[in-house]
Amino acid sequence: MTEQDAGIREIRINPIVPTESVLIATARSMRPKQTEEGYQADKREHVETCPFCRGNEDRTPPAIVTHPDNKDWEMRIVENLFPVLADTDSQPNFTFGLQQTIDGYGRHEVVIDHNQHGIAVHEMSVEHLGQLFVMYQQRITKLYESDDRLRYVLLFKNYGPAAGGSIPHTHSQIIAMPVVPQNVEAEVTNSHEYYQKQHHCIFCTLIDEALSYEATIYDKRSGEVRRKINVGQYVVERGEHFVAIKPFASRYEWEVHILPLEHLADFPSANPDHLVDFARVLKNTMTRLDKVIGGVQYNFFLHSLPHGDEYKHCSQSYHWHLEICPRTSIPTGFELGSGLLVNTITPEVAAQALREVEIE
Ligand SMILES: [Zn+2]
Ligand SMILES: [Zn+2]
Ligand SMILES: [Zn+2]
Repeated sequence: MTEQDAGIREIRINPIVPTESVLIATARSMRPKQTEEGYQADKREHVETCPFCRGNEDRTPPAIVTHPDNKDWEMRIVENLFPVLADTDSQPNFTFGLQQTIDGYGRHEVVIDHNQHGIAVHEMSVEHLGQLFVMYQQRITKLYESDDRLRYVLLFKNYGPAAGGSIPHTHSQIIAMPVVPQNVEAEVTNSHEYYQKQHHCIFCTLIDEALSYEATIYDKRSGEVRRKINVGQYVVERGEHFVAIKPFASRYEWEVHILPLEHLADFPSANPDHLVDFARVLKNTMTRLDKVIGGVQYNFFLHSLPHGDEYKHCSQSYHWHLEICPRTSIPTGFELGSGLLVNTITPEVAAQALREVEIE
């Protein structure tokens, strides 16, 4: 086996949550990881039988938000017909000893992102996407205000069957819950520990590192190049207020995160005017992903500071962001059994491919 065939094999530690690591293994032997079939999206603009299409409003539960509020709406929020959490008073099951339950209180809503049935995020206009994120902001704020028991409002999108998307009409979901998701809790706790030691937000530090430019170190005596450092190699897309970065310890081959350049812990307090720039960075990033992977199936989810007094002291140390996780392969038994995800493309190579692809 030549050195090239052996590829890179290294375990990268997530700088924010060090207990999460990923195996970067580009060796050919790692490749026969099963890949997802290319997804043939339903591209139709209007489908007579689709409950999410215009004119079929009576087939969904009543709308919570309609924008604009008339029959030519562009986006709507409705109750989920099959909520995973709801605000009905159910009796928790009888528990014993170590078995504990929390009442499954919460809200589960569906956001119909666009009136056009099969439109993809990268095909939506910047103005539309900006307005969509302002609507998310307003809805999340309303939900937090509605009940003190809510600790987290998770916003996410499943696109394509491999990502758990079951309805073809473009949509995202909002789940308000009485507990903080474990991965968000880990990010909040670990970034606060970093802040206590370094007096600096770890996300801001990672952005600074990602935006730094190439540096070459020369040998003092011979003048020969000793080392080239290119820490700008993780940037995928840069806007005025937001940046899209390929994480150094990416769990998925084409995972990309979008973060505000200015420090801010919670998404609902982001300046709505800046969300137009966010929309542009998101649209360009999704276009790049679509060009490079083709027919991309993905999940995206928003991570923001949880609600409640116990999180207020983390506003300097936590930094909201959107994680985009394209699903290009099916997890293997090794990954499910070990919890160690295998990424077969080095993040530097993936970032370069995304950055260099032509988008007009
Ligand atoms: Zn539809
Ligand atoms: Zn920050
Ligand atoms: Zn996160």
